[in-house]
Amino acid sequence: MEKKDVKEELLKRYKYFYENAGLILGPYYKNCRFNLPTNLIEDLEISFLSEIRLEDTNFYKEFEKQKEDKNYLEKADAAIKQQKKDSWGYSFPPELDLWTLIFKVREYIKDQSGDLDNKKVKIDVLDEYFRLRRYENNGRIWTSGYNYTFEDIKNNLFNGSYPIRKELEPTRKKHDVGVKSNVFLNTIYNRDDKKYVSYFSEEEKQNVYLSLHDELPWNLTINCSHEENEEDKLERPNNTKPCSEDFYVKEEEIFMSGEEYYQRCTNCGYIVNIPKEILSLGIKERIDNSIKSNPDLERYNVLKSELESIENKGKTKALTNKN
Ligand SMILES: [Zn+2]
Repeated sequence: MEKKDVKEELLKRYKYFYENAGLILGPYYKNCRFNLPTNLIEDLEISFLSEIRLEDTNFYKEFEKQKEDKNYLEKADAAIKQQKKDSWGYSFPPELDLWTLIFKVREYIKDQSGDLDNKKVKIDVLDEYFRLRRYENNGRIWTSGYNYTFEDIKNNLFNGSYPIRKELEPTRKKHDVGVKSNVFLNTIYNRDDKKYVSYFSEEEKQNVYLSLHDELPWNLTINCSHEENEEDKLERPNNTKPCSEDFYVKEEEIFMSGEEYYQRCTNCGYIVNIPKEILSLGIKERIDNSIKSNPDLERYNVLKSELESIENKGKTKALTNKN
């Protein structure tokens, strides 16, 4: 692997393990906990942190074969269902997700007693996976890896108390050092641009998130004066006209009239057409369902639009009177 390939490689690994974590962990889930065999954790450490390309690791090759085995899939599936059941009870089983997977590798590395410089680098690089996992698509900027940063605590990004754990003495033998220093680790750890806490910009993190979730980007805007085609133009309520300001497109605010999608401008209340092309099939389906459960949504928005327009006029009038 070359230096220039490191970022892409990390993203590829992240996405792969994000999508497969349940299937990897499933068969080892029992009584609300995991007992991962050491050789599996060793393999995972290699897949997360070595300079071997993911597709060339033994883990990848074996796991891709395993996924074709019906018995294996059934076993994993049953575990995923059982975990959901357990979550409804009074216990709090760990999730069968990427977080648990990285956490297991982290614990394993913490237990390493030799090659301490590289151990520190590995824990640090692993934090990049945790940071990607914390991305939320709502404009809040996380800086924490596994541990909370002072920045995030100050900005109230998490609720709950900080778990204070006693550092345990490592138990692994001195020569048992797992993944050794390599170009993947060093490129991330020794990068020149330490301007950001994270190796990834917010935009890069957002792209990863959106490639794994069927959602609109939180910062998608549209201009209030955007018009639909003349022929199927919606008749807007009296007293309303576009203000020409940008506003955020939000899935939960979108409603339908006929085959078209609309959202009220958050500045002036004008009903603005949302182009179909920016909405994925999944998003359209969710909007469709929300309309089925609330058939008055269009009527509500039309009335609200006119009301807001009248209220806004009132506001401007009151302001002018004052002057
Ligand atoms: Zn507007």
